[in-house]
Amino acid sequence: MPGVYISYPFCAQKCTYCNFASGVLPAELEGRYLDALEQEIARHPWRWTPESVYLGGGTPSRLPPADLERILAGVPGKPWTEATIEAAPGGITAELAAGWRRAGITRVSLGVQSFVEEELRLTGRKHTAEIVEREIAILRGVGIEDINIDLIAGLAAQSLDSWFASIDWIERLQPPHVSVYMLEVDEDSRLGLEILREGPRYGAARVPDEEQVAEFYEAAVRELAGLGLARYEISNFAKPGHESRHNLKYWRLEPYAGFGVDAHSFDGGIRWQNTDEVREYVSGRGVVVERQRARESERFWVGLRLTEGVRARPADLARHAEAIERLKQNRLLEQEGDLLRLTPRGVLLSNEVFQEFL
Ligand code: SF4
Repeated sequence: MPGVYISYPFCAQKCTYCNFASGVLPAELEGRYLDALEQEIARHPWRWTPESVYLGGGTPSRLPPADLERILAGVPGKPWTEATIEAAPGGITAELAAGWRRAGITRVSLGVQSFVEEELRLTGRKHTAEIVEREIAILRGVGIEDINIDLIAGLAAQSLDSWFASIDWIERLQPPHVSVYMLEVDEDSRLGLEILREGPRYGAARVPDEEQVAEFYEAAVRELAGLGLARYEISNFAKPGHESRHNLKYWRLEPYAGFGVDAHSFDGGIRWQNTDEVREYVSGRGVVVERQRARESERFWVGLRLTEGVRARPADLARHAEAIERLKQNRLLEQEGDLLRLTPRGVLLSNEVFQEFL
C-alpha cells in the first residue's frame, strides 16, 4: 500500500543544526506555496489509494487547521491508517490538536531534539521540557496517542549526564515511538559549517566527539529497550505495533508519492525529486528536477537499515560476495542463509557499510 509525503518548508526560525530545505521564508510566499501544493496534489493521477500520509518540512504544525484540511482534501483514502504531522513544540493548543484530528491526523512527531535547556538554546529552539510535557497531555486529551519524540545525539554542550537527563524525560512521558538521530556535520547547516571551520559560534567548540556520540547512541539503545522501545531501524525505536508504517515504506522500497518542495517520489521502479527552491516551486515551472531508475540492489542495502535485516537475492549475494565477506570478517555484518543484518558495531558504522554497496 503506497504512502504520501507532503512538504511544508516554513519555520519560525532556522535551527543551527538544520540542513533541510526549510527556514524562515517571506510570508507572501506561504499563500502561493499552498496554492501550488494544492494544484500539484490535484494534478496527480491517483491510480492508487494511500494508506499513510506524512506531513514534514519545515514545520507543518504552523499550518492553520483550515489550510491543512484544504491540502489533505486532495488526498484520497481518508481516514488513512496512519497520518503523521511533524510539529515543533511550543505552539500546540487544544484547538490546534482538535483541528488535526478533524483533518485526519492520527500521529504527531515532535521535534524535541533535547530536554536540556542549554542544548536547546544553542540550537535556536525556544521550548522547554515542561512545554513538551504540557503539549503531549494536550495531544492525548484529544485522542492522539501515537506520538514520536525526536532526539539528537551530538548537540553542542551535550554530555553523557545531560543525554541521560533527556532519556529520563522519555521515561516520564512514555511516548510509544522515539527517533534518535546523530548530528550531521556538513556545510548545509550553520552549526556544521562552524564545526568544519573550527569556529566557536552556536557552541561548535563544545560539540561532543564521534566516540562520545557513539556512546550516547549505545546508551539510548540500551535504555530505550528497557522502556519497551525496541530499535527497529538504525534511528527508530517503538513499542510493539507503533512502528511508523509510512517510514517503513522507505526502507522496504514500497511506493510513495511526494508533494511540495524537495519532496521525493518512488513508483517501485523510478525515483523523482521536486526542486528544493521554494520560489521555483511556486512558479510551477519545472517542479520535478531529477528522475532516475532505482538500482537493482537498492532494496538490499536500504533494507539493511532495518533491525530485522534483509533477505538478499542470489544475484545480490553474488554481486556483493567480496564486500559481504569483508564486512563479516570486520564484525559489521552477520549472515544466516540469505538473511543479512548489521551487527551492533555495524549499526554504529553503518555509513561505512553502505559505502561498500554503493
Ligand atoms: S529543524 Fe525543523 S524547525 Fe528547525 S529549521 Fe529545520 S525544519 Fe525548521
